[in-house]
Amino acid sequence: EKIREAVDGEGRTVFSFEFFPPKTEEGVENLFERMDRMVAHNPTFCDITWGAGGSTADLTLEIANRMQNIISVETMMHLTCTNMPVEKIDHALDNIKNNGIQNVLALRGDPPHGQDKFVQVEGGFSCALDLVKHIRAKYGDYFGITVAGYPEAHPDMIQEGGATLEAYSNDLAYLKKKVDAGADLIITQLFYDTDIFLKFVSDCRQIGITCPIVPGIMPINNYKGFLRMTGFCKTKITSEITAALDPIKDNEEAVKAYGIHLGTEMCKKILAHGIKTVHLYTLNMEKSALAILMNLGLIEESKVTRSLPWRPPANVFRA
Ligand code: FAD
Repeated sequence: EKIREAVDGEGRTVFSFEFFPPKTEEGVENLFERMDRMVAHNPTFCDITWGAGGSTADLTLEIANRMQNIISVETMMHLTCTNMPVEKIDHALDNIKNNGIQNVLALRGDPPHGQDKFVQVEGGFSCALDLVKHIRAKYGDYFGITVAGYPEAHPDMIQEGGATLEAYSNDLAYLKKKVDAGADLIITQLFYDTDIFLKFVSDCRQIGITCPIVPGIMPINNYKGFLRMTGFCKTKITSEITAALDPIKDNEEAVKAYGIHLGTEMCKKILAHGIKTVHLYTLNMEKSALAILMNLGLIEESKVTRSLPWRPPANVFRA
């Protein structure tokens, strides 16, 4: 089933979880156990990332297919298109299609580690728009296609002090091209200034983007990780957040607690503005994501308490 309808439709607030392929087999087993517990809370969908250039291709496919068919949650697979021949892209799409997955997040991808720029593979694609067009041309309406949106503009467009109005407008116009080419859902890059997200939604509507726009929320789990991520994505950090984190930055528990508080407040504000979905970048961790959903009243407290570390691992990996 395509996630677009569920995200848009029935008037109730829904949520979803993003995961990434772990580096070790043990990590994969742990992830399946965690996913199983998290899926018990009924996310509308879960998605799994794709290592740029296809670096995690086999594992991403395996995890996606298991999510859809054994963990039994509507699944969206990320797929990047640069540094990858078209055959590899089609192999991935055929594989998930044969396994009943109907949702793809179509991305450009970043250059591989150690390279500043990506090299276009001969006959390959240079941007997400190419991939969206390809999927629609080759697979018709079979897939629901999601694309990435950038409330602060794509980091390539951001100079010191933020994107210029012109760069921001060009970025939006390009996003509209992705939607016009067949994408039916937008998930945003992480952000920590809710006003920027709300303005982005309103700017998208102004230029005629009508599909649902889902906010990507990354709970702050760890101070260094937060700085690394926001540095990499050139995310604006409000002075309130800096002031709150500065005195507690060496206290991991306090940072996590603040992350849950902030995530909750951001989601409350967004939901109060008529957005119906929150998408959580879990970083493969469950506590902060579940705590935020519990604070929002979107999942039952009793289920969280029971399902956290004390539950014996489900045997999904070997099922
Ligand atoms: P595109 O949409 O192709 O373009 C990025 C920007 O470049 C555009 O916003 C626009 O400003 C400019 N641009 C590109 N082409 C054109 C054009 N033809 N005309 C005008 N402007 C253009 N990376 C991974 O490797 N794996 C993942 O699983 C993954 N998941 C992600 C999930 C989300 C929700 C987000 C927001 C990002 C994710 N990324 C992932 C990161 C992503 O690959 C990078 O941000 C990458 O740099 C851009 O990908 P994109 O699909 O947004 O690119």
